[in-house]
Amino acid sequence: MNTNNYNKIIVIGGGYGGIKAVATLAKDKINQVTLIDKNAYHFMQTDVYELIANEKDFAKVSVDLFTYCSGFDGNVSFYKQEVCNIDFNNKKVITDTQRLSYDYLVIAVGARTKFVKSIKGLKEYAHGVKALHRAMYFKQKFEMSLFKKVQENGITCKPLSIVVAGAGLSGVEIAAQMASFAKDFYSSNNFLCRKLNIMLVSSSKQILKGMDDVLVKKSQKRLLDLGVVIKTQTRVVSLIKESVTLSSGEIIPMDFMIFAGGIEPNGLIYNLDLEKNERGFLTTNDALHVSRHKEVFAIGDCATLYNNGKFIAPTADVAEQMGELCSQNIMNLIYNKALKKHNIKSRGVLIALGRRYAVGKVVNFHLYGYFAYLMKKIIEKVYFMQLDRHSKKGCRKIFEE
Ligand SMILES: Cc1cc2nc3c(=O)[nH]c(=O)nc-3n(C[C@H](O)[C@H](O)[C@H](O)COP(=O)(O)OP(=O)(O)OC[C@H]3O[C@@H](n4cnc5c(N)ncnc54)[C@H](O)[C@@H]3O)c2cc1C
Repeated sequence: MNTNNYNKIIVIGGGYGGIKAVATLAKDKINQVTLIDKNAYHFMQTDVYELIANEKDFAKVSVDLFTYCSGFDGNVSFYKQEVCNIDFNNKKVITDTQRLSYDYLVIAVGARTKFVKSIKGLKEYAHGVKALHRAMYFKQKFEMSLFKKVQENGITCKPLSIVVAGAGLSGVEIAAQMASFAKDFYSSNNFLCRKLNIMLVSSSKQILKGMDDVLVKKSQKRLLDLGVVIKTQTRVVSLIKESVTLSSGEIIPMDFMIFAGGIEPNGLIYNLDLEKNERGFLTTNDALHVSRHKEVFAIGDCATLYNNGKFIAPTADVAEQMGELCSQNIMNLIYNKALKKHNIKSRGVLIALGRRYAVGKVVNFHLYGYFAYLMKKIIEKVYFMQLDRHSKKGCRKIFEE
C-alpha cells in the first residue's frame, strides 16, 4: 500500500478491458484509479454494424470517458493523453505531456488494424473500422457512394463495388450489414441505379476461420442470400484506386475496400521492454501479470491468452473477463492474498448478419434469426446502459459544481 494510505492504480486504455478494470477497482475506496486514454471516449466496436446501418449515430456507439469517470464516488479520474512509454523500474507512465507514478498498472491498449506492408496500396486505398473516426469515415464514404450512383444515368450506371478483405467476425458483419442496408435502401426508393457488388475475400478455406461449423454454414448462407460474393483461399496482393488484385490473378473493380484482415499491437506495445509473442503481443502468466513485474497486468487485445494450451481469440467478452480478473488480482496483491489463475473462455458469440438477423452460440446453444439478433441487442443495451448511467451521473456532478 502507498504511504498516503491509498493505492495509485493506473489503467491505460478505456476499451472493454480497461473500463471493466476501472469499474471493479473503483469499488474499493482504498484505490485511487486513473484512467488514461488517447481518445476522450470509449468506442463500442461491437456495435459498428449498427453505425453502418444508420440505426445508431456515433454518440450511441461511444461513451464520454471524462463524464464516465466522474460518475464514480471521487476515486476515479480521467486523463485524455497518449501513453508513449512506461518506466517499469521507477513505476512511471510517460504520456505525451507528463510522467505519472503508479503502485499498480493495467495495460489495456487494444490493437489496431494491421495494414500489411507487403500489400501495395493498402494503407492508401483501404479503410479500417477499429477506430471510431475510421468507422465514421467509412460509413460516410458508403453513403456517399450510394448517393453518387443515384446521380448516375439510370439503368446504364456502373455498379457500386465494395471489397471486404478478411472474413473474420468483423469482416463478415460489415459485408452482411452493407448488403442488407443497400437492399432496404433500394427497396424503399425508386432510383434506377441499383447495382451493388459486395465481395468478401478470405485467405482461408472458409469464412469465420476457427468458429463453430454450424455458425459458418448459416453465416455463409445468409451472406449468399444477401447477394455477397464470397472468395475463399485467395488474398489481396495489391490495390490501386479503382481495383484490387487477388493472389489468384483476378482483378476486381472497386469503389472502396474495407480491410479487416488482421490486427497488430499498437505503437505503445512496440516501445515496451516486456516479453512478447512472435506477433508482438504481450505475454502474461496465468494471473495476467507480465513477467518481471508482478504489479503490472496486461489485458484485452494487446495481450495473448491461452487456456490449457489453447489460444483464446481476442474479443470484447474476453477483454472484459480479463479486466475483472486482473482487478481482483490487484486487490489480492494489496491484501497479501494468493493470486487467482484465470480460466477464461469465450462465453459465446453473436454475429449480426443484416437487419434483425443474427447467428450465434451461447453456452453451447445455437441461436439463429430474430431471436439471436434480439439477444445481441439486449446484451449491447445492458452494456451501454451501465456505462451511460455512470456517465449521466458524472455529467450532473460536473454541471452542478
Ligand atoms: C467491427 C468489429 C466488430 C466486433 N464485434 C465483436 C463482437 O460482436 N463480440 C466481441 O466480443 N468482440 C467483437 N469485436 C472485437 C472487440 O471489439 C475487441 O476484442 C475489443 O474491443 C478489445 O477490447 P480492449 O479493451 O482490449 O481494446 P479496445 O476496445 O480496442 O480499447 C483500447 C483502448 O486503448 C486506447 N489506447 C490505445 N493506445 C493508447 C495509448 N498509447 N495511450 C492511451 N490510450 C491508448 C484506445 O483509444 C482504446 O480506447 C469486434 C471488433 C470489430 C472491429
